[in-house]
Amino acid sequence: MIPQSVQLRSSGEGKSLSHPVGQERAHGHAGNRLLAALPSDVMAGLNDDLHLVSLASGTVLFEPGDAIEQVYFPQSGLISLMVITRDGDAIATGTIGREGAVGLHRGLGKRRSFSRATAQVAGHVWVIAASKFELAIGASTAARDVICDYTELLWAESQQLAACNAVHDAASRLCRSLLQSADRAGSDQLPLTQEALANALGVRRTSVTLLAQGLQKKGVIRYARGMIHILDRSRLEACACECYQVMKGEGLSDAIGARTSRR
Ligand SMILES: [Zn+2]
Repeated sequence: MIPQSVQLRSSGEGKSLSHPVGQERAHGHAGNRLLAALPSDVMAGLNDDLHLVSLASGTVLFEPGDAIEQVYFPQSGLISLMVITRDGDAIATGTIGREGAVGLHRGLGKRRSFSRATAQVAGHVWVIAASKFELAIGASTAARDVICDYTELLWAESQQLAACNAVHDAASRLCRSLLQSADRAGSDQLPLTQEALANALGVRRTSVTLLAQGLQKKGVIRYARGMIHILDRSRLEACACECYQVMKGEGLSDAIGARTSRR
């Protein structure tokens, strides 16, 4: 059963798009690296309150200004964080997959979401009521350290992305974005629409089409009907801007001396 507190919204018709997935419990790492990084005694206290749900593409977890009432730990799929302009444009400012969590800083106290969090790629996420998560985290210094490290990593990544958007061309940013999405979703097949890619890069859809066609002609990707298949990862890495390597693996955590990493 999904707890009553879990209220998920669709960006389309406003109906719930979540479904409980069996009676699984978050034993061990459960496919999410942040859950795996939490101390075992904290996880033992969280297990009964963590529920695995499936998210359809387009499900909205938070709107800007929403109180954070649940914390989400993806096991698969991809969550996009988007800043919404006054004109209603949505610009993707980050992606979170199985390496991270959405709303994690709520473990430190009551918070509101700054951005819109949307399921970009359908998948399964562990969800827990924020009040229960805060209670468990409050008793563990080690668990609070995990949250602080992860929050610092997101902050560092935001700085890198700001520089990337300012100085790197759209073609190399597209390659960087595809590689990061594949790493975080755990798949080289990505159901990403032109609109999603345009939002991620801050360019027009027609530009995305031309860029994707260019990569397809080189045999790097295959792109059809909103599905991208990465065919040649090494060439995609060669075409990506330096930011992919900076943010990949342990690079960012090593750079700032964090104990946990985003990879
Ligand atoms: Zn870059």
